[in-house]
Amino acid sequence: MDLLPEIPLFEMDEDEDEEDVRPVMYGGACTFAAHPVAPPAGPDPDAYVYMNFMKSHCCYDTIPTSSKLVIFDIKLQVKKAFFALVANGLRAAPLWDSKLQCFVGMLTITDFINILHRYYKSPLVQIYELEEHKIETWREIYLQYSVNRLISITPESSLFDAIYSLLKNKIHRLPVIDPASGNVLHILTHKRILKFLHIFGSMIPKPRFLQKRISEVAIGTFKEIATVQELASVYDALTIFVERRVSALPVVNEQGKVVALYSRFDVINLAAQKRYNNLNMTMRDAIASRACCVEGVLKCYPYETLETIIDRIAKAEVHRLVLVDKDNVVRGIVSLSDLLQALVLSPADTLQCES
Ligand code: ADP
Ligand code: ADP
Ligand code: AMP
Repeated sequence: MDLLPEIPLFEMDEDEDEEDVRPVMYGGACTFAAHPVAPPAGPDPDAYVYMNFMKSHCCYDTIPTSSKLVIFDIKLQVKKAFFALVANGLRAAPLWDSKLQCFVGMLTITDFINILHRYYKSPLVQIYELEEHKIETWREIYLQYSVNRLISITPESSLFDAIYSLLKNKIHRLPVIDPASGNVLHILTHKRILKFLHIFGSMIPKPRFLQKRISEVAIGTFKEIATVQELASVYDALTIFVERRVSALPVVNEQGKVVALYSRFDVINLAAQKRYNNLNMTMRDAIASRACCVEGVLKCYPYETLETIIDRIAKAEVHRLVLVDKDNVVRGIVSLSDLLQALVLSPADTLQCES
């Protein structure tokens, strides 16, 4: 296999001594063949390239040399916690229970959305629960219906396991916790993993299927796309987020053409601008008043190749592209979840079925 280059973005010098783990040194990087990798033979060895890549690299490899990590005690008021996310330019934070002396969960923008959606009444009524509740109070109510433990991973686990956990648990934030100290080292995301693949994957032979059109490989969602009208209210958009559990909504005009994209991340602007008491504002207003956002809509077309699409999504550092036809009408969503499922998890499923 080719030597991997030294790229300063990622820490590349971890060592490990687990018994059933074979450390392999590639140009300063420490990778672990913690899982048996698929043999290069078989009907189409190309199909397993990315699965093998993810099985032979560990979470530690993706951790940046330096980054900011904010932790919240569950006794903190939820409102202060969301303001702290905004002030630190972060999307999520691990939650610490000082009584149990351990991490018990995550606070993400999805929690902010759920709180607003559940308790909002009208622009004239303050959201008491947002003003007064502590994180622990919110969790007592919310955890009856959702994940009630922290899902985490160890630094020496493979990236394959990290992807499996993100996708199977349908979460977007996976804390990497050092088992020795119990410290959170990093919060792993689909974006970070794709960026890692984009940089280091260029050193492995390019599988031929990358030249296929997206319409041919059918990676993404192409039916029942959740969209929101530009004149709908922000509350309507939150309802769609809660009911459909999607990570973003293409915003469409009356002709069904996509004019913008509103993601869960954008909802934090309501906290940044203290505008969460008026969820009756239109999507058009909410979009126009976003503090910082991507220019236009990042799209793709059915005739574009998988390689072009992966390049675009990795370079733009967004979680998805909106698939449109020549009239700019929404035809699908190609999300990082879809790409990681198709390139990494599905080949493993196939392999398991064959054996
Ligand atoms: P977002 O896309 O807004 O960052 P997620 O999809 O990751 O949010 O989170 C969905 C729900 O799952 C939220 O209630 C969040 O608190 C919870 N959650 C997210 N990550 C984890 C995790 N690693 N362990 C436990 N719960 C989590
Ligand atoms: P996260 O990092 O939480 O996964 P997202 O990628 O969903 O966040 O969103 C980050 C920012 O990028 C948001 O302002 C969102 O509106 C914007 N964005 C994401 N995807 C697109 C897209 N396909 N077109 C235009 N803007 C996008
Ligand atoms: P994500 O939450 O973006 O990681 O994606 C999870 C799944 O939901 C993927 O299969 C996406 O294609 C799909 N998805 C994301 N956004 C939408 C949407 N607006 N409408 C329908 N499906 C979506």
